[in-house]
Amino acid sequence: MDSDQKNGKKVSPQEKMSPGRRQYLEIKSSYKNELLLYRMGDFYETFDEDAHVLASVLGIALTERDVGAKKKSSLAGIPAHSIDNHIKTLIDADLTVVIAEQTSDPTESKGIVERAVVRIITPGTVLETTILDVGANSYLVSVCIENNSVGLAYLDITTSEFNTQTIKIDQLKAELERLQPREIIVHENDRLFLENILVVPKLLRFVEGSVIDFQDAIGILSGINISINDIREQSLAVKAAAMAYRHASETQMGHLPQITALKFLFNDDFMLIDGRALRDLEIFTSNGDGKSLFECMNETETPMGTRLLRNWISKPLKNINKIKYRLDAVDLYVSNVDVHSSTVNLLKNISDVERILNRTRTFSCNPRDLISLKESLRQITNISVVSHEILNTLSIPQGFPDNSKLINLLESTLFETPSNTPGDGSVIKNGYSKDLDELRDLLSDTSNAILALENNVKEKTGIKTLKIGFNRVFGYYIEVTRSHLLNVPDSFERRQSLVNSERFVTAELKELETKILSARDRVSVIEKNLFKSICTEVNSYSDSILHSANLIANIDVICSYANVAMGSGWIKPKVNTSFDIKIKSGRHPTVESNLGSTQFVPNDVDISHIGKRINIITGPNMSGKSTYIRQIGILCMLAQSGSFVPAESATIGLVDRIFTRAGLGDDISEGKSTFMIEMIETAEILNNATNSSLAIMDEVGRGTSTYDGLAIARSVVEYIHNSKRPGFRTLFATHFHEMADLSNYMADVYNLKVAVSEDSDGITFLRTILPGGSDKSYGVHVAKLAGMPDEVINRSWDLLRELENDINPTVHPLQMEMDLDNETYLKNKELADYLLAADLDLMTPIEALNVLNTLKSKLDSSD
Ligand code: ADP
Repeated sequence: MDSDQKNGKKVSPQEKMSPGRRQYLEIKSSYKNELLLYRMGDFYETFDEDAHVLASVLGIALTERDVGAKKKSSLAGIPAHSIDNHIKTLIDADLTVVIAEQTSDPTESKGIVERAVVRIITPGTVLETTILDVGANSYLVSVCIENNSVGLAYLDITTSEFNTQTIKIDQLKAELERLQPREIIVHENDRLFLENILVVPKLLRFVEGSVIDFQDAIGILSGINISINDIREQSLAVKAAAMAYRHASETQMGHLPQITALKFLFNDDFMLIDGRALRDLEIFTSNGDGKSLFECMNETETPMGTRLLRNWISKPLKNINKIKYRLDAVDLYVSNVDVHSSTVNLLKNISDVERILNRTRTFSCNPRDLISLKESLRQITNISVVSHEILNTLSIPQGFPDNSKLINLLESTLFETPSNTPGDGSVIKNGYSKDLDELRDLLSDTSNAILALENNVKEKTGIKTLKIGFNRVFGYYIEVTRSHLLNVPDSFERRQSLVNSERFVTAELKELETKILSARDRVSVIEKNLFKSICTEVNSYSDSILHSANLIANIDVICSYANVAMGSGWIKPKVNTSFDIKIKSGRHPTVESNLGSTQFVPNDVDISHIGKRINIITGPNMSGKSTYIRQIGILCMLAQSGSFVPAESATIGLVDRIFTRAGLGDDISEGKSTFMIEMIETAEILNNATNSSLAIMDEVGRGTSTYDGLAIARSVVEYIHNSKRPGFRTLFATHFHEMADLSNYMADVYNLKVAVSEDSDGITFLRTILPGGSDKSYGVHVAKLAGMPDEVINRSWDLLRELENDINPTVHPLQMEMDLDNETYLKNKELADYLLAADLDLMTPIEALNVLNTLKSKLDSSD
């Protein structure tokens, strides 16, 4: 039935649904599960259920609005200028936000303004600069699983990065933890698997329906440059890339100009560091009050450099040559301090070129972005002059592209300090557009013309105080104070009455006004169009801008490495393909930076695949075992990421993966006990370590009883020793001094201990690692150091002595006192029970006296 008909009768206009409402419902019908922000003038409005959601998530007022047909709908809105701040809250609340904009000019529209959805905002497709983390990528990841292989693609629509790879299924968790995605696209079929391995399942977004096949994937990626020739070999990676691209493109309504190239990565090129290792080694977040490794290392000057540093640190290399290129480049800066400091000074003035280009490509940039781009390109040109050698060393001999044409374009078209939005005539330089110049001349002439007209009217009317003014509602007017109204000629047309004056217009003023306003409109249109065409031209330089940004990021990270190396006395490590790790006077970078360099005691490392492959470090708690074993992992990771390391010398035999079992914090959220987690993590290491992995195991077996724990710890070491993986190097820190016995019958187990000096007052930790095993656990010493009451300490010594000599523990004197107390309690209870049983109401006075007497004699006998 026609919605405008009711029982065959025509419905009165008041009862009809308003056209605006109809337009809204039509758009909303395609986005039933999303939050639709609907542009109405200066506001984004939401209606019905969406309004309730918006009001409750943002804590704003909920109102009502007539929508025709005698109905009201709920309404809540936010001012358009503050939308960026709210989007973060909405996305964090797990909402998908759909933006519908006005697509026709309200001043020119007859009837209702046209509207259309321009963007869907999901966590992985946020573009708002205020929400994005400057120093981190915003990755949208897609996962495509077949048997034991996974296609894993990730793209960042804010920087144009788009990568894909094929990995083994057991590497997926580690990769996801490293990438820290904002959103993960996965097919519904793989829901369970992903939900099980992810700590934050809310990142997941499920694709329903049939899985993308290879041909579809090729079609979806048809406009993208692909970095390899034989993509058939990489069909899973291709499919994953297509899933990510399709999702990103759908959120941008098919307009994704910033993604033009897809790079295939090969996981074999990188050392794997999973989320646990990142956490245990405190790479990006510190587990205490101190700094994380990233914070200690980050001396980058540009956002591109900061993002690349994150990438290099979490993805160290396995290719010896590539590692050497980076190390040699750092060396070059370390030995050319002047070049280093001038490069750093130039880097300081480079903006986030990648994200500016991204805004230019989507036409959401502003004039000041382009000025920053120009300034940055100038600095890049200066850097290119001093960076030939660095780029050659990094094996990028082709160097920087020539950006001079682009710089000239921006120089010749834009004012040095333009306004932030094009349209008011202060963005495009004089001389670039004849039309614009003429109109601007006309506008500056018209302000003279207004002045001339004002003088002329004053002369004619004799009203010396009249003024020509302007306001948005009435336009230009002549204002005359009340005392002069008699002198106003008939030709003046009244427009507005104020308390002390009246406002008029004349034919002449109206003519001038039309000229001025149409000139302004035309300036606005011309300047906006010119700005857009400049953006289009800038976009044609995208490849060279991105290439320049990438080189700058490389140079920035190398400069940062050099800075840290020079500032903290780090040295150039050697990296080779052996299974050995030899470090002289190594230091833990963050513990040293938190303690101060004079406090930190350096230590040597000697892991050899023959005789010293499994190092068991025994020593009391708090003596420095964890620091030592983690320090070795961090130094390997730093060396392979191309950084210098805190040591006097270091030779690292390539490590393909660092495993950690460091026992920090339980994952209570996953509902697993501390000991369960300890065992799961240990099992993962034993099952997945390869012939060139490094395992850092801290206190395996601590989470259960002493005998259980010791039994597990021993058998773990035996398993590693006998596993026939000669490069599976292990650092095993334990307070079980009994573990040192293993070296007696296992050829590759080597004992180390933390030196402790002991005197009558207790022990002092020397923090020095020495060959040999500890002969005791020093638990009571540590308890004393921790400030336990003397009574506890003395009693512990007694018990320890008895336990060590296999004597049944004696009863503590305190316990005897408690036993005595127990006797008194029983006696008192007997008396109380006797008294309570006596029924005073039924007793004669004599009987009561007898009870009293018995009570007294009971008391006397208990003394
Ligand atoms: P353990 O693992 O033996 O319990 P940790 O490695 O946690 O001991 O070290 C305890 C504390 O000792 C650290 O927080 C650090 O402050 C200090 N420490 C560790 N190693 C050193 C060192 N080489 N030089 C100076 N202080 C150290």
